[in-house]
Amino acid sequence: MSSTSTNRRSFLARGAALAAVPTIATLVGEAFAEPAFADTLPDYAPIPPSALGPAVNAQGYHVGRVQKNLYWVTDGTYQAAFLTTKDGVVLFDAPPSIGHNLQRAIDQIAAANGVSNKVTHIVYSHHHADHLGASALFGRNVVRVGHIETKRLLARDNDPARPVPDLTFETHHTLRVGGQRIDLAWHGTNHTPDNSYIHFPDHDTLMLVDINLPGWVPFDSFNLNEDVPGSIAAPAKAMAYPWKHYIGGHMGRLGTRHDMVVYQQYVTDLIDNVEKALATVDPTPFFTKYGNNTWAAVKTYQAAQVDYAAAPVIRKYTGVLAAADVYTASTAFIILESIRLDLGIGSQVHP
Ligand SMILES: [Zn+2]
Repeated sequence: MSSTSTNRRSFLARGAALAAVPTIATLVGEAFAEPAFADTLPDYAPIPPSALGPAVNAQGYHVGRVQKNLYWVTDGTYQAAFLTTKDGVVLFDAPPSIGHNLQRAIDQIAAANGVSNKVTHIVYSHHHADHLGASALFGRNVVRVGHIETKRLLARDNDPARPVPDLTFETHHTLRVGGQRIDLAWHGTNHTPDNSYIHFPDHDTLMLVDINLPGWVPFDSFNLNEDVPGSIAAPAKAMAYPWKHYIGGHMGRLGTRHDMVVYQQYVTDLIDNVEKALATVDPTPFFTKYGNNTWAAVKTYQAAQVDYAAAPVIRKYTGVLAAADVYTASTAFIILESIRLDLGIGSQVHP
């Protein structure tokens, strides 16, 4: 196949990466067709090489060993993992952007090692379609495993691409397949109400999806985390486990404990600077200018607080975490609202 079609396919794989993108592309389809449109797009800082992982192959995926018989697969944006056992393969998540490349990656490893390529179990990290939308490709005769809330949310969503789990757990479950051990746990809500900790005690690995995206700042608006305090607390819960390798569900490489420390510091720096902004940015000019248009005053006042909080964090992390200049401000806004609404900081009781 030509390199053009390969590039196009990997471009499409990345374009499909985030569920919101096709919708936006449809909405502004007219603008996309304008040849001059690209010239008006903003420039961003280069991606630090430390954020990037191995190149994907001609089919658009990379599969690598995490440790022993635990492997990971990526398309550069999404990640899944699988464990080969004497009784078949346990797959962890099934992102649609990797899609049929999941079985190709499994076939490649199984053939190289002379083990079964048959997926017998799929463990769900959480209910989101961008991590599970290829689950149905594996048919009806696999055992799907997930948190009880994952089952409830998938029943609600009623998406044929994401069959509900057959085996559920509430707080802890040890899954044993073919002599292998996987410890599943739920430690409270974070990114979603059901997001689970998947620990491989015999492989020095933790899989926790959509919390830390190693090498990168969070996706828009703090990874769209539903529970902001719960998400801020999740890295410490992850660090309480013994592990060397981290599967974050995103981007092109695995993580380390050092990546988690950097990520925790990034979030701490954002919180500190948001608190400073709440105490420092003077609301007077915004309310003076906009008079009885309260929303205009609040919007511009909060935008100034976000800029105040984000600017030093963007400076500190440019070259450290990829896309610090792309998404830090939107995450600062979410953290600002959580500090205001969940913690009550900056609230004043009328005298
Ligand atoms: Zn998610």
